[in-house]
Amino acid sequence: MENDAEVPQTDTRLELESKRGMLAAIIDSTDDTIISKTTQGIITSWNPAAKRMFGYTEEEAIGQHISLIIPEDRMGEETYIIGQILQGQKVDHFETLRRAKNGDLVPISLTVSPIKDRSGRIIGASKIARDISVQRIAVEKQGVLAAIIDTSDDTILSKTLEGIITSWNKAAVKMFGYTEAEAIGKHISLIIPPDRLDEESYIIGEVSKGNKVDHFQTFRRAKNGNLIPISLSVSPITDESGKVIGASKIARDISAEQSAQQETAELYKQLQALNAKKDEFIGLASHELKTPLTSVNGYLQILGQRITDEKNKVFVQKAQQQLSKLSTLVDDLLDVSKIEAGKLNFRDEVFNICEVISDAIDLISHANGNYQITFETSTPEFTIRGDAHRIEQVLINLLTNAIRYSPGSNRIEVYLFAEAENVKVGVKDFGLGIASEKLNHIFSRYYRVDDSSANVSGLGIGLYLCYEIVTRHRGRIWAESELKAGSTFWFILPIA
Ligand code: ADP
Repeated sequence: MENDAEVPQTDTRLELESKRGMLAAIIDSTDDTIISKTTQGIITSWNPAAKRMFGYTEEEAIGQHISLIIPEDRMGEETYIIGQILQGQKVDHFETLRRAKNGDLVPISLTVSPIKDRSGRIIGASKIARDISVQRIAVEKQGVLAAIIDTSDDTILSKTLEGIITSWNKAAVKMFGYTEAEAIGKHISLIIPPDRLDEESYIIGEVSKGNKVDHFQTFRRAKNGNLIPISLSVSPITDESGKVIGASKIARDISAEQSAQQETAELYKQLQALNAKKDEFIGLASHELKTPLTSVNGYLQILGQRITDEKNKVFVQKAQQQLSKLSTLVDDLLDVSKIEAGKLNFRDEVFNICEVISDAIDLISHANGNYQITFETSTPEFTIRGDAHRIEQVLINLLTNAIRYSPGSNRIEVYLFAEAENVKVGVKDFGLGIASEKLNHIFSRYYRVDDSSANVSGLGIGLYLCYEIVTRHRGRIWAESELKAGSTFWFILPIA
């Protein structure tokens, strides 16, 4: 200080000059916009950064009122700022918007300081403006992300590669019971059950390599000691250079899902047990029915032979017909229980399927005299390997259905032709038809289409038996149908 006082007058001026020069150079080269103005708001200096920010040249700006760059709805701010300046106050980090020459609004942070003359009188203000658009977007983005994380129902937390918890959202507080203050800074083992600690090294290993660990189902321990089943997704957090610096974890409580799964599995088990019981009952009942049926049939035959009166003979015949229907039903039920028990056996013989089809048509035509059943085949002989009796059963079922579900028609067409290594058989009717969404179900056990079967008695097992018989012969069965136009049931069997 002393020395300073002794510096000659000329040197001080020189120094002052060079100081001024240096300041001017700094102002000229800085990236911050620096403007000065009088207390009346007239711009008195305008550096190159101000030109870059607002688009006006020094010549265009100097001498103009500062309102040149103030949006109309923000004019009031100027009065406030000048008011502060006139009181000798600095206005710091005032975030606002200013308008550039091209009309764009520029978000800025303003610092305005009073300029005083030698006597200390305030003669103007210097403004330093910093463009905060990037910063603002980043802050806005961060705000949005923070809000998403905070309101998420999923537990979201982050940790360093050393396992230190660095963030902990509200859902994490709810799930684990630790507050943010209790969790942040702690090691993640806070919530890992001791017998699962090695999972952490696996997860960190993957994340360090830049890999994501997805839907990792595990357990974590809450503050109260409860184990929570969760599904974890862990992703690497990278810095600007792409280096992995931590991990973000999203954890979803899957206890509800798990108990629902367990419940479903339990219900399924119960259902299977009940189903098995029902099958067992059907098997037993049909077996029990079979014996009296056979003896009633025997007695009816004896009665038929003994009765001489023609009228009474007809009654016995009718009783026999009904009994035969009942026998078929019981036989079908017995077949179903045999299938379920894996005990439906097939004969292995080579036979001509044309004959089997003709026999089945004869049988059905005989019982349904008013029906016209045509048979079209490309050749009178096709040799098949399997159980002729069972294949006949398939045809009888299909023909019977074709009659039962065609109330307004008396025509059935049967086709047989070769297709590749197979024979293809079709039974076509012109009856009720089946809705397309039901077609997939008709071969299921006990399934009946509500609309068409409403007036037809049945148990919904005929097509199921057809399906079992055909597939056990290494064949395939399906149906094509159009409502109110009719259906064609097709099956293919390999040629022997
Ligand atoms: P059931 O005839 O005893 O009900 P099926 O297993 O033979 O049992 O047939 C299952 C269901 O498929 C029937 O209830 C009926 O609704 C439908 N269905 C079968 N064949 C035909 C057909 N030819 N036309 C229309 N619907 C049919």
